[in-house]
Amino acid sequence: MKTFIQSGKQLAIHDWQKENPLIIAGFTLREGGYSPMPFNSFNMGFHVNDNPRYVQKNRKSFAEEIQFPIQNWVGSRQVHGTNIVKVTKEDLGRGSLDFETAVPDADGMYTQEEDILLTSLYADCVPLYFYSSKNKLIGLAHAGWRGTVGKIGPKMIKQWCEKENADVKDIKTAIGPAIGECCYEVDEKVISEVRSALNKNEEPAVFTKNDNGKYQLNLQSLNEILFLQAGVLPENITISHNCTSCDNTVFFSHRKDNGKTGRMMSFIGRKGV
Ligand SMILES: [Zn+2]
Repeated sequence: MKTFIQSGKQLAIHDWQKENPLIIAGFTLREGGYSPMPFNSFNMGFHVNDNPRYVQKNRKSFAEEIQFPIQNWVGSRQVHGTNIVKVTKEDLGRGSLDFETAVPDADGMYTQEEDILLTSLYADCVPLYFYSSKNKLIGLAHAGWRGTVGKIGPKMIKQWCEKENADVKDIKTAIGPAIGECCYEVDEKVISEVRSALNKNEEPAVFTKNDNGKYQLNLQSLNEILFLQAGVLPENITISHNCTSCDNTVFFSHRKDNGKTGRMMSFIGRKGV
């Protein structure tokens, strides 16, 4: 089973790096940074009311760790939508040291250029990763339940195939750490939207009904099924099995921390030779 592997302050997509050492892809963890409570300590988010100086320090130290200069990072303003933006060298540095310059209204980003680190922020939502070595494409998408049922994952696949000449059989995807079925209770309103994205026989793998009339939802499984529906090969999907709410010392969790917490960062970049 392909999964994420801890390396320093991140969980890395080891398989992709093994295949191409110039690919840097992973997910930052909670510990080892400068931010005080409730953002303790390796907070990567500027929008959560942490002192921006600490966030800058955290980001700069991680830039050192992965040897990817902070001025080459690109971040976006995530709005739980399904908008996908193609990023170029002209966007370098946007959102890397402040929130204001981040690419607006983009829950998905991709690029074909090297020396750009795409970044995206999380506290329970599902980080999605995309990689086609053949077409030199890398991408990220932020998938909470809204983005997931809005099919932001399949949308990226479709865009690569239609606009960038990619073949779905060459596209690798990864599904990062997120709130697990164990901790993610949702109501009928959410489940009715989830049902509309699924075939009936796929439902048991994605949610179960509780005695109180609510449901436990597995957003990672839902994203996996949507990737398979879109034609991604099963062997090309890497999945993290961590629940961000279960282990509060390792991960920030919006639910577990009652909304006041820091953010972890997904990232992918291809270094120039
Ligand atoms: Zn859990």
